[in-house]
Amino acid sequence: MFKVMIHPADYDTVRPAVDRAFELFPIQIAGKKVLIKPNVLRSSKAAEGIVTHPAVLRAVVEKVEQMNAASIVVGDNPGLFDYGANEKSFKETGLMDAAKGYYQNIGNESQTVAFNPAFMPTVSLSKAVFEADIIISLPKFKTHGLTVITGAIKNSYGFLPGAQKARLHKIAGTPQRFHEMVVDVFRLRVPELFIVDAVVGMEGNGPASPDLRDIGLILASDNAVAMDAVIAAMMGLEPNRLRFLQKAKEIGLGECDLDKIEVIGALKKLPDFKIPPLGGEAIMENDAIQEMLHNKTLPRPYADPDLCTACGACIEQCPVTALSMNGDIPEVDADTCIICFCCQEICPEKAIALQ
Ligand code: SF4
Ligand code: SF4
Repeated sequence: MFKVMIHPADYDTVRPAVDRAFELFPIQIAGKKVLIKPNVLRSSKAAEGIVTHPAVLRAVVEKVEQMNAASIVVGDNPGLFDYGANEKSFKETGLMDAAKGYYQNIGNESQTVAFNPAFMPTVSLSKAVFEADIIISLPKFKTHGLTVITGAIKNSYGFLPGAQKARLHKIAGTPQRFHEMVVDVFRLRVPELFIVDAVVGMEGNGPASPDLRDIGLILASDNAVAMDAVIAAMMGLEPNRLRFLQKAKEIGLGECDLDKIEVIGALKKLPDFKIPPLGGEAIMENDAIQEMLHNKTLPRPYADPDLCTACGACIEQCPVTALSMNGDIPEVDADTCIICFCCQEICPEKAIALQ
């Protein structure tokens, strides 16, 4: 049976939860090359809740140090806005200090591997991913406009360095196909352990929403599908209806039926948890309804004039050139927009909302 740990914690007392995770999911670390991968979406302050909190990373690094790893690498490939600013993202978030000298810019060297030809014949992943004997993934408990939740499976999307993330968004084209592609990236190298920062989570229009939620938990599992099923249930979603969990289960990556997951701790639904507007659409199984909704009724992004500084970052990063400046505010061409939410993800002012 798959197991998921739910353990109380705050950022001053993360270590007991991390110790418990290693007890419940023992891995042979001594003599092994270990890659620790936090979620470093972009440069931001730790208190904004956009990235894995430095206290969680530090606790895991110190634990792995004590277990006599042969080598430790801490790294991630930040999202669209910070392709070329890997080091800056780690410094600004406080994750550089928490990495205790083990930080590496894993975007510098990549390795090309076969991918799903329905999307692209090959992709490049950070070489560090393939060099590691053990990968410990440290997702953040957050919502995501396109995948509804961003947890254990989605954290591996950061194995892709550079502009491939945006290219794949464009190639996927629909939310359903994006769900499936995220699983195809994940399966290229499945991490051994997942420790989720749910001390402070994010709700609403994630993955860079201003709506934070005090949850006070660290979650852990050695199975990403079970882990994400528990996150989904905590958010009030039915895990079996999320397309990326369906696909991960179909191809044998794990189990998202809560009856088949042993939860060690108290699994409680978070009251009135705000999921992204797209959440309902993304979990429908019917292809025809998906396409109809995609074409006719999906929310489209718009820039809030009270927050937008007209920096142009969203326009520059839109993978299908759906945004252009109208006076001093970006406007979206609804017919061109593929609803990838890259603009929302990169906006430094959190000015992109949905209508
Ligand atoms: S919406 Fe955000 S990213 Fe786009 S121009 Fe305005 S501030 Fe910049
Ligand atoms: S406007 Fe925003 S959501 Fe639409 S395609 Fe461009 S980046 Fe993606």
